[in-house]
Amino acid sequence: MTDNVQLFIDGAWVHASDGTTVDLVNPANNQVIGQVAVATDADIDWALHAAKSGFGIWRKTSAWDRAEILCKAARLIDDRKEDIALKLTAEQGKPIAEARGELSRCAETFEWCAAEAIRSYGRMYPQRRPSGRQMTIKEPVGPVAAFTPWNFPVVLSCRKLAAALGAGCSIILNPPNEAPSAVSDIIRALHDAGVPNGAIGQLTGNPAHLSERQVNAPEIAKVSLTGSVRVGKLLGQLAGAQLKPVTMELGGHAPVVVFSDADIERAAALTADFKYRNAGQVCLGVSRIFVQESAFDAFYAAFAKHVEALKVGDGMAPSTTMGPMTNESRVKAMEQIVDDAVKHGATVTHGGKRYEGGCFFEPTLIRDVPDNALLMTEEPFGPVTPIVSFTTYAEVLARANALPYGLAAYAFTNSLKIATDIANDFEAGWVGINEFSPALAEAPFCGFKDSGLGAEGGPEGFDAYLKIKFISQLAV
Ligand code: NAD
Repeated sequence: MTDNVQLFIDGAWVHASDGTTVDLVNPANNQVIGQVAVATDADIDWALHAAKSGFGIWRKTSAWDRAEILCKAARLIDDRKEDIALKLTAEQGKPIAEARGELSRCAETFEWCAAEAIRSYGRMYPQRRPSGRQMTIKEPVGPVAAFTPWNFPVVLSCRKLAAALGAGCSIILNPPNEAPSAVSDIIRALHDAGVPNGAIGQLTGNPAHLSERQVNAPEIAKVSLTGSVRVGKLLGQLAGAQLKPVTMELGGHAPVVVFSDADIERAAALTADFKYRNAGQVCLGVSRIFVQESAFDAFYAAFAKHVEALKVGDGMAPSTTMGPMTNESRVKAMEQIVDDAVKHGATVTHGGKRYEGGCFFEPTLIRDVPDNALLMTEEPFGPVTPIVSFTTYAEVLARANALPYGLAAYAFTNSLKIATDIANDFEAGWVGINEFSPALAEAPFCGFKDSGLGAEGGPEGFDAYLKIKFISQLAV
């Protein structure tokens, strides 16, 4: 049993005012492991009011003091890492080693944003009059409503919390109902480290209702979402009607292009490893693999070996290398995309089915999938991999860039010319050449096309929580 997940409002953990909860389920065995509070309108309004007064205190806290508090929170998260990782695996399903890795990236995100907080410089402009000064300063944008998905609930929440708090904003975090428990421990660490009451809040409940009420509320100055394109468009419309700035990190459908001159064994090993992490529920993850014709058979065979070696099971078992999917609806989605691929003439060579018990789906490998199958056009977000062949650079580039998504794209090649050309030609905000990388604290991540709006991470992501004020003054 994990802790029950309450609301965090004005420095206090509270039940929903009418006591309503929803079940928190362990996807490895479908057992109920806790209850999640469902905020009422009165709770949401209380959190909004608290975020406004918390902002008044936090924006006046010096950048050095804010940085110290964020560093202290990072240390607390590190100290509590093991407990939080266990909660994350219990509610989300990922192998415990991956949960620990996610927690390490949380602490480093707070440290990086703490350092950035004390570098939020303004600018002096060359003087126009002898006793005049003209300058810009950066100010926090105001209270933020932030929404995060269930695939990396902790680190993605930390990216928003760390940047918003570092910049001096207050923030109401809305973690996913499927995995809010580990995130609550991050909120606890921030509170214990000294973030004042109201400067952080946490709400759970009915997603559509929570977002509509907060985005429309006059207290909220900025909206930040990591989630699906569908929800991005919904929140974008709500925020647009209020002229509120948004940061949107949305879905993707990343191509991996393997040229025949690449080290094929290495490319297959790295791609398979990255693909099945978190049971394929990774926004930057591998969705479509294009292999140049002459290397196709060798790549397919090498990739298949890695699929066969995966150990599927409860993420708590140290030997597990792929856990369950996070909820039953994802298992059904996998069945649909596999059925559709087969109807389009594809051949399933590995996996293709659910397991009985928890939310498990077999690591799946499919060949001969036409580009118009669902698997090749809609984000699969699961352990199903299509591998198809291509002939020329021009052909594969057109196919790789054909979708409305532009989150991530990868290529493997030993040719400097191909590497340079494809890094320039990919229509994606995150490009990997001969390697994969998770999102980094210090680097901006900005989806192209339908995959996002604005940046998260790095100085650009930090600045998204700041506004610029121009000041002209004259000594009289
Ligand atoms: P989702 O869009 O369904 O939900 C994301 C968050 O939005 C949740 O907290 C949810 O409660 C909230 N939400 C607010 N208003 C909502 C509404 N009207 N309806 C539903 N939810 C609402 O996404 P998900 O299924 O939790 O996560 C998977 C998606 O997130 C995938 O598309 C994945 O690619 C994307 N993602 C993107 C990134 C990135 O950095 N670009 C990272 C991780 C996940």
